[in-house]
Amino acid sequence: MEDCIFCKIVAGQIPSTRVLETGDYVAIRDIQPAAPTHVLVIPRRHVESVAHLDDGDVEVAGRLLLGARDVARKEGLAERGYRVVINTGREGGQTVGHLHVHVLGGRQLTGHGTS
Ligand code: AMP
Ligand code: ZN
Repeated sequence: MEDCIFCKIVAGQIPSTRVLETGDYVAIRDIQPAAPTHVLVIPRRHVESVAHLDDGDVEVAGRLLLGARDVARKEGLAERGYRVVINTGREGGQTVGHLHVHVLGGRQLTGHGTS
């Protein structure tokens, strides 16, 4: 956790562009955007991935999804549509080991991933 880049972003030790934050999560612009709008919703508490969520994490899991909804609203994507992606584990393409939700939009998306 000490070396977790997203924990450092949440703590403000690494700069980021915040678009929204609550007591549960911080939403930042992705440093390598795959779409005109590409925001990451990051829980403040370190959880490695969806695979590491406990049954008792229903609140934080739900808040993350609502966070994606609120980011999309704020970015003007609610009407035109957008994509919510959670890469999970190695074969899921997860590269940062701190759970995060991608919110992508602003262009017509194809396929099912973040590209
Ligand atoms: P994933 O591949 O699903 O684990 O997504 C990790 C995402 O984090 C990628 O889209 C990266 O571009 C993004 N990312 C990595 N480092 C940073 C950073 N310092 N600030 C913002 N986004 C980052
Ligand atoms: Zn972390």
